[in-house]
Amino acid sequence: MTIFDKVIEIYRDTYICSHCLGRMFSLLGTDTTNHDRGNSLLLAITMDKHRAYLSQQDNRDNASQILKLLAENAKFTPAQSVLKKEGIEYIEPDSAEKCYLCYDIFNNINVYAKRAEKYLENLEFTNFLIGTALDAHIINNEDNFKATHNLLEAESFKNHFNREVGKDLSLILGKPAEFGMPDITIIYSIKFGSFDISLLLRSLFVYGRYNKFVRGIPQTHWNCRLCRGRGCESCKFTGKQYPTSVEELISPKFVNEAKADGSKFHGAGREDIDVRMLGNGRPFILELNNPKIRTLDLIKIQNKVNKSNKRKIKVSDLKYSSKERVKNLKFSAENTKKVYKAIVISKEKISKDNFDVLLKKLKSVYEQQKLQQRTPIRVSHRRADKIREKKIFRVEGKFIKPNLSEFIVEAQGGTYIKELISGDNGRTTPSFSDVYGFSLECKKLDVLKIY
Ligand SMILES: [Zn+2]
Ligand SMILES: [Zn+2]
Repeated sequence: MTIFDKVIEIYRDTYICSHCLGRMFSLLGTDTTNHDRGNSLLLAITMDKHRAYLSQQDNRDNASQILKLLAENAKFTPAQSVLKKEGIEYIEPDSAEKCYLCYDIFNNINVYAKRAEKYLENLEFTNFLIGTALDAHIINNEDNFKATHNLLEAESFKNHFNREVGKDLSLILGKPAEFGMPDITIIYSIKFGSFDISLLLRSLFVYGRYNKFVRGIPQTHWNCRLCRGRGCESCKFTGKQYPTSVEELISPKFVNEAKADGSKFHGAGREDIDVRMLGNGRPFILELNNPKIRTLDLIKIQNKVNKSNKRKIKVSDLKYSSKERVKNLKFSAENTKKVYKAIVISKEKISKDNFDVLLKKLKSVYEQQKLQQRTPIRVSHRRADKIREKKIFRVEGKFIKPNLSEFIVEAQGGTYIKELISGDNGRTTPSFSDVYGFSLECKKLDVLKIY
């Protein structure tokens, strides 16, 4: 069966548009559009049958039958003109009859592109991608059609639609389509006879460092333990365990400026609620969801955040980031060195001389061996119970009072410093308490530096 025979067979009982006809043979011939493919096929058949009509007396009937088929069932204008010229009558096709496969959607691509343009008003983006969700009826219809006519070289409805709307919209907007990481994905939900548009805006990522100058603020929002965020008497119907968090002090300004729907705070590790974050600050990445603005004045936002949170928190070093960096951030947090300052209370009083001796002992212990740290009981509900090996790089100490001293500790990321000092009932060894021979407790802790 030639390709021409197949086309004629298709039009015996169905009308499909030139776009869809070309689409059914899309893998054949390159550097053309489906519309031109379809038209070329119809034109070639028209020419062939016109010639047969003129030259071969025997086949005249058959040739005029097929010309009529193209004029009536395929609504092909050149075939209609040939019939008029040769004085053969045909029935004017029903102009209201729509393409069996696309319901004339492909003849009205511009309508689809224009509608998207309206949705994109007031959004900032540099490129876009078209996506399609097709009604099952359209898909089944087309699958059956292809099976009936044994069509193996077709391009899918979606591919054709996405490309053609993309081309149109690109011209209208003066912006390119982007297949890798589009700022916006425009999703068409298509049924025969109607369609909807929804937009997917790629998240915007902003990197920065934060300082926390006060104790008692968690890094991120915590749901109330009693009501799990629903709101109860205990949390005064706020749903929150703590009145605020570093996240809540930082994020809203960004969300506002980016006209985003919400945000997610990713920290490079976290300090305890009662621990301050001093020095150069802790890296974080703020993920802004559905941002309608993508170009932010980061300096202006930084100033706003810092001005309204004076003495509580501070952000610095802001720059654009990416989803990949979020993964890196979490991974690297475990492997970066951190410097801490700990104020320590000892159970027994010791002299200045004794303190110096014990400090020397501490230094030599951690020079020689690594710390074995089993997950502390206080975090065991959210971290796997296992033993982690950590390196303590440096210990400095200062005698304050017989039962009070200050330590500077430089440790591998992920070390639990409070437990390094107390020993956590033998779960962390060797601890400061082990070396001292009586129990020590970390009263206050600050992070001074994160490398
Ligand atoms: Zn069609
Ligand atoms: Zn509550």
